[in-house]
Amino acid sequence: YILKPFKNLGIIDFNDQEIYNEMKETLKRVESEFGKRYPIVIGGKEYETGEFIRSINPSKIEEVVGYTAKSNEEIAEKAVETAFETFKSWSRVPAWKRAEYLLKTSKILRDNRFEFVATMVYEVGKNWVEADADFAEAVDFLEFYAREMLRYDAQQPLVRIETEKNDLNYIPMGVGAIIPPWNFPLAILVGMTSAAVVTGNTVVLKPASDSTVIAAKFVEALREAGLPDGVVNFLPGSGAVVGEYLVKHPKIRFISFTGSKEVGLKINELAAKPQKGQMWIKRVVLEMGGKDAVVVDETADLDFAAEGIVVSAFGFQGQKCSAGSRAIIVEDIYDKLVEKIVEKTKEIKIGDVRFHENWLGPVINSSAKNKIMNYIEIGKNEGKLIFGGKALEELGGYFIQPTIFKDVPWNARIAQEEIFGPVLSVIKAKDFDEALKIANSTEYGLTGSLYSKSREHIERAKVEFHVGNLYFNRKCTGALVGVHPFGGFNMSGTDSKAGGRDYLGLFLQAKVWSEKI
Ligand code: NAP
Repeated sequence: YILKPFKNLGIIDFNDQEIYNEMKETLKRVESEFGKRYPIVIGGKEYETGEFIRSINPSKIEEVVGYTAKSNEEIAEKAVETAFETFKSWSRVPAWKRAEYLLKTSKILRDNRFEFVATMVYEVGKNWVEADADFAEAVDFLEFYAREMLRYDAQQPLVRIETEKNDLNYIPMGVGAIIPPWNFPLAILVGMTSAAVVTGNTVVLKPASDSTVIAAKFVEALREAGLPDGVVNFLPGSGAVVGEYLVKHPKIRFISFTGSKEVGLKINELAAKPQKGQMWIKRVVLEMGGKDAVVVDETADLDFAAEGIVVSAFGFQGQKCSAGSRAIIVEDIYDKLVEKIVEKTKEIKIGDVRFHENWLGPVINSSAKNKIMNYIEIGKNEGKLIFGGKALEELGGYFIQPTIFKDVPWNARIAQEEIFGPVLSVIKAKDFDEALKIANSTEYGLTGSLYSKSREHIERAKVEFHVGNLYFNRKCTGALVGVHPFGGFNMSGTDSKAGGRDYLGLFLQAKVWSEKI
């Protein structure tokens, strides 16, 4: 099977008038379809339960983007059984054929790029560029994992001996529960799902409840690509109900989860307990939260650093696991840099992201808004509020100003706990040694970034800054598939390195044959 080498898709330029116009038109078209219903899909059949998940536009909360049928335990059982039966045939489909379904799906996505991007703008409040980056990452996952599967399927290097013919093959495991978050509603869902099925597993896909419409549209694309019925079974529903049901189910072989630490740890515990009739130890891959830091030393270019801090902290309203929610700045340059950060933050335009000029959109829902506002109150007693701090109810959505606290002690709650909103804690460090110590002081270890011109500091950070994805002189968000395999240490998860060469191995088991000759 000859394929061109993998290349990242890249994002489009909305400043191009033609592209801008097409996006505007697509936004209108997608808006005209608001309120549409999307079904549960099991074994190629569509189901409804009478109950629906209402997906609302966080920029304008009276708008319902769509209604997705809400699953219950009975439907979840049907989904697991169907996936279990389908595994028998799907696991025998040749790897190249499975890879081909991913490539076909990638083509369908690319042909409908604007629709997917517009749907994310409305459903989760991503600005155009963030939504397009999410889309590009989704396509990258499909293209990358298709190629990766062929590599895993090729003959594996073994030490050869004269008396035997030996071979090692990677085989699929069984039925997986795929449980993604809403914050990369297309990219992460597509990455986890496509990796699981290209390796020959079947899945039950339970999307996050805040982003079921974009998930349903991806499932439509899989069906259009001709993916056999029962390989991906689509089960929108409550995490606490059907999510847990899947995690505990004895026929589930593995769980692929991306989300919060709290839910991840609970899944880890539930999955560890063998159920009646269960034949295996469930494999659990957990990608969880972060409290990521941007460190700046006295040698750094301060304009660059200020730009990197603001984009890392406030991009997609700070709702990224990789968000730079802490800026750790050495004393010498602290005041000067803080001033620059505030200046840059002042330039941010807030508002409904259906308009291209708005960079900062809403947070995802009312409970997220309340949680973030609660942290802002906590922050007022822990540090000095120097910018923002207010919710902007008058805008009609869940908008919160970009918020900056300075002089935050390293061990304050707003410097230790994941807020997952547009809140930046600025922490002063005596020197680079102390800055590194503070950077490593949380229970997380996902991303980090260092702005420095000192080769010595950069080399030290490579060893001492304990995070899964470390960047120098650039923002700490925006990992690219294949270029920056992604995953974190400590409470940030099991370090799966999505978009890397080890990732598919998490969905496979190795079987060795040995034949005497
Ligand atoms: P979440 O609340 O933990 O939810 C994640 C998924 O788990 C959703 O599909 C959710 O369903 C489901 N779920 C909830 N309770 C469950 C339970 N008891 N059993 C089984 N499944 C359950 O996280 P989120 O708010 O969607 O996403 C934000 C979090 O994800 C942040 O902490 C962020 O840092 C993290 N994240 C990490 C990475 C990474 O690569 N490390 C990437 C992106 C995001 P419902 O929606 O129905 O509740």
